[in-house]
Amino acid sequence: AKEHGRSRTEVFTTALRDAILIRHRLQTDLTRAIEAREVFLLYQPIVRLTDGGLIGFEALVRWRHPELGLIGPDRFIPIAEETGQILPLGRFVLEEAVRSLKRWRAQSGLPITVNVNLSARQMWDAPYVEDMLTWLAETGVEGLKIEVTESMTMSDPDRALAILGRFHDLGIPLCMDDFGTGYSSLSYLGRFPFDVLKIDKSFVSDLAPDSGRARLVRGIVNLAHDLGLDVVGEGVETAEEQAILTGLGCDYAQGYLFARPLPVDDAGSWVRRAAS
Ligand code: C2E
Ligand code: CA
Ligand code: CA
Ligand code: CA
Repeated sequence: AKEHGRSRTEVFTTALRDAILIRHRLQTDLTRAIEAREVFLLYQPIVRLTDGGLIGFEALVRWRHPELGLIGPDRFIPIAEETGQILPLGRFVLEEAVRSLKRWRAQSGLPITVNVNLSARQMWDAPYVEDMLTWLAETGVEGLKIEVTESMTMSDPDRALAILGRFHDLGIPLCMDDFGTGYSSLSYLGRFPFDVLKIDKSFVSDLAPDSGRARLVRGIVNLAHDLGLDVVGEGVETAEEQAILTGLGCDYAQGYLFARPLPVDDAGSWVRRAAS
């Protein structure tokens, strides 16, 4: 590598320094970004597998940075979680998502749903949760769903159960997100008041008929149904994956095959089309 100028160590050090700089940059810019409305939501349709009908959306956050361009949540949510900026950010996401939800329900008369992702830091902050619950009780929660991952609950399952139970008691269905990527999925499923199970896209991609993975997914679907949960397949990209999931008894699906995460106006068009 010598003849290419820089040694491996130098290249690595430069990459690391860039990563740290960007990270620091994102961290200092994020608070202003929320106020400056650089942060916004996209809405990805969730459809019924039997007839392709729209049931609702998952709200997914994006950041349009003035210099760095469009930034995905995988790059800034972990930072926001560490710094605590996820608290105002998560509150913005919740309020914005509920606003869209109310508008779509009022306009269409359909029982549209909107799923919002909750992060661990939000869940463990007791006064913050109380604030959220108060706001939700005042605003109304019809059609709102909350998505959590099991890894969030692992550090203190009893306390997590108590907190998530408060949302559930308000009438907010709980979705177990990314199912299959955690460690103790089965025991958690029975213990927590989950209403929806989202099968992680790693199980859905390259799903072949009569494969071991297909049998595994069938087992997950049957187990979830026995426990009274609806099942959403995530990351559906091909018609074959759709057909197999349908055959395995999966109820709903989300993925690029149906739609990418959409700007709010395009999501509104989906709602209007579903209502007509
Ligand atoms: P997630 O909750 O599992 O969200 C699904 C992710 O899969 C989204 O990525 C979505 O764009 C992507 N996806 C959907 N369909 C397909 C497909 O067919 N193929 C592939 N390859 N990907 C698909 P996104 O929007 O980049 O979000 C990444 C993660 O960031 C989310 O994963 C979630 O964990 C987190 N996130 C996003 N928005 C929020 C938020 O408002 N709050 C919190 N706490 N986390 C969020
Ligand atoms: Ca999610
Ligand atoms: Ca997921
Ligand atoms: Ca995820």
